[in-house]
Amino acid sequence: MSITPLMPVYPRCDVRPVRGEHCHLISEDGTRYLDFAAGIAVNLLGHSHQGLIGAIQQQAATLMHVSNLYGSPQGERLAQRLVDHTFADTVFFTNSGAEAVEAAIKTARAYHQYQGSEERFELITFNNAFHGRTMATISASSQEKMHKGFAPLLPGFRYVEFDDLEGAKAAIGPHTAGFLVEPIQGEGGIRVASQEFMSGLRELADEHDLMLVLDEVQTGVARTGTLYAYEQYGITPDILATAKGIGGGFPLGACLATEKAARGMTFGTHGSTYGGNPLAMAAGNAVLDAVANDEFLGEVLAKGERIRTRLEQFIGNYPELFEGVRGKGLMLGIKLKVEPRALMQHLRDRHQLLTAAAGDGTLRLLPPLVIGDAEIDEFFDKLSAGAADFPAQDAG
Ligand SMILES: *Cc1c(COP(=O)(O)O)cnc(C)c1O
Repeated sequence: MSITPLMPVYPRCDVRPVRGEHCHLISEDGTRYLDFAAGIAVNLLGHSHQGLIGAIQQQAATLMHVSNLYGSPQGERLAQRLVDHTFADTVFFTNSGAEAVEAAIKTARAYHQYQGSEERFELITFNNAFHGRTMATISASSQEKMHKGFAPLLPGFRYVEFDDLEGAKAAIGPHTAGFLVEPIQGEGGIRVASQEFMSGLRELADEHDLMLVLDEVQTGVARTGTLYAYEQYGITPDILATAKGIGGGFPLGACLATEKAARGMTFGTHGSTYGGNPLAMAAGNAVLDAVANDEFLGEVLAKGERIRTRLEQFIGNYPELFEGVRGKGLMLGIKLKVEPRALMQHLRDRHQLLTAAAGDGTLRLLPPLVIGDAEIDEFFDKLSAGAADFPAQDAG
């Protein structure tokens, strides 16, 4: 037998982390890595946050799981806090980002179908988007590499160029239920939607009674310097999917919606066995305790600006490697002139710096939001050393 016990769907590297300390990971062989990937924007409080650990330990010892057939004081508390801090009136908890997007898709379809508009089921989505790996969420993405081998896809998605407002407008038809969009494409390469695009989608949605569904699975939970990225555009969505950072490392996601948008989500229309269980709610509440305040958010913005300014100066030293810096807050990308995977591997294996490659020739920087000046200095030391000894034959 040659297949590995772990289904071989990931090209796993040789780093084998067994312990985490704040912004560092320690591997099986004792090597210490500076973690600027944070489990793909998940470990926003770092790896050994006492508040998060304490909340999970205490809840695990008190009550780990009950079904959604019972009242949930823990879930009511976290849902109320999300409602208080966002556009939303109501929240459905999930265990992952893909499930949060699934719930968002169902909510958008049900909004129309609940009132008898059965023909309005189509969501307009955008090229190079990433929404997860379930059948509906791969169908929502234009990326063919995620479709191969899994036909037939689900109908009901129409792809348009990202940040192309005219294209989005032209795609509206009798079947359109809404738009599904990431304010900043994460896997797609830290591509930031323009102000005109986001306000334009909001206006189109209002004009045609469409649902504006934001996928903030990667941009959400303080990552961009506001609790959610939509705040920086001065608009509100009708429906929003959040996950990744919201549990700080504990699997948790949520679909947020206005009362109007959720009108089709009535008794019996949706559910999840684990979704919103007390253990996950304890993690989510501990994360919000840490991040949902102006002081923390202000620091994320300030740290993001500091890194960005230094990066912009730094990349000028290596015009053959780097093209530009993009992103918001601590969701940053460096557009490269070399293969992102090659540079990511070099930084990881030679300089013990973990980053994440992305689409559009971009290297993603997604540090824990709790990084300090010491970690920022260490990052620049490692990046400078890595740029200096990046082998020329790997270029291009
Ligand atoms: C990661 C991600 C998802 C999928 O989340 P999972 O927890 O892996 O299911 C969906 N949308 C965006 C924008 C993401 O970054």
